[in-house]
Amino acid sequence: MTTQPEHPAPRILLVEDNPINMKLAADILEHDGFHVVRATDAEQARVILQGVIPDLILTDIDLPGMDGLTLAWVCKTNERLRDVPVVAITAFAMAADERKALASGCDGYITKPIQTRELASKVRSYLRPRRADGQDTGH
Ligand code: MN
Repeated sequence: MTTQPEHPAPRILLVEDNPINMKLAADILEHDGFHVVRATDAEQARVILQGVIPDLILTDIDLPGMDGLTLAWVCKTNERLRDVPVVAITAFAMAADERKALASGCDGYITKPIQTRELASKVRSYLRPRRADGQDTGH
């Protein structure tokens, strides 16, 4: 017997300082069955990450204070968080920014403006396979 649903909603930590982009992305992901935890800057994200290991971190690059690429690097150099996929949201669809995102440890990137029909499937494509017992693979 299990007390967990067979497919619990994947948890996404969404880090975005622009309220319009935050609402757009969160609405799309929640509509598609994700559980979205919101942070408006990297420091808030780091506080949340002390208590929650999400299935994926989706972060804007251009944030006040610590930027999204530094947040990615911080996560990827943390033993607890290194296996969590990090996907950057970048407004600049330029090769140099893509290389920077990947060099910072991001597993991928999504370019703005956010495509409402593609966001959820793109995010889903970066999720790691779940363990058969439904437990988090994190520590
Ligand atoms: Mn921003």
